[in-house]
Amino acid sequence: MSDGPAAVPSAEPLLALDGVCTNYGKIRILRDVSLTVGEGEVVALLGLNGAGKTTTMRSILGLTPPRAGTVRYAGQNVTGWPAYKIARLGVGYVPEGRRMFKDLSTLENLQLAENGRSGAWTIQRVFEHLPKLSELRARKSGRLSGGEQEMLSIGRALVANPRLLLVDEPSQGLAPLVVEEVYRILAELKKTGVAILLVEQNALLALRIADRAYVLDGGRVVHAGPAAELAADRDRIRMLMGLEVAT
Ligand code: ATP
Repeated sequence: MSDGPAAVPSAEPLLALDGVCTNYGKIRILRDVSLTVGEGEVVALLGLNGAGKTTTMRSILGLTPPRAGTVRYAGQNVTGWPAYKIARLGVGYVPEGRRMFKDLSTLENLQLAENGRSGAWTIQRVFEHLPKLSELRARKSGRLSGGEQEMLSIGRALVANPRLLLVDEPSQGLAPLVVEEVYRILAELKKTGVAILLVEQNALLALRIADRAYVLDGGRVVHAGPAAELAADRDRIRMLMGLEVAT
């Protein structure tokens, strides 16, 4: 098997889920989820707590393999492949809760993630895009603030040179100003051509940088369409997500 990502036939999106059903034990969580992410596209995956957003990411990554349906990535059927093989194809993951090696410094976390891989994203380039991380290179990651940990989590995914980045709830638990900073970074990443599947509970935030959006409810896709169209329709967001929408 070659280590580099395979060429995607032009008609096929970079990532395509078709009829994915995923269980935890006997409990069905995802029901017939179909979605696509094109090369360089930012796609928001929205929904309330427990809607199935993280489970969708776990299904893509092979962490919780689907019971039915297919996951295609870069022209291959990767359904149920182990996570390390999917990562090797260029899928990066920025998990909810920013799991990292807390006793290692910022730099050591990045070095571990880089692991000899080469590509456009080097640790140096990550430091140029995220100068705060450069300042904090010697600090143990367990002593970073939530926002700094989120940046490190993004940096770690980048040094593996992903073609597709799965980002789970990057705003979770962060102060509004820090959220702005994290989203500024994601918007900058978008310009570099990385495709992003962005999970968020805060719909308006994600819709600001997304090209398209899906909304999940009870493990089903209940809405799919252009991000700008959904962002402009607050009533629809309220109806889909059942919440007061912060402006
Ligand atoms: P959140 O924003 O809370 O992470 P989410 O949309 O990402 O929400 P999921 O984490 O995918 O939702 O969870 C979907 C459903 O699956 C929820 O009802 C949740 O309780 C359940 N669930 C999640 N993880 C497990 C697990 N390991 N075992 C059993 N049920 C689980």
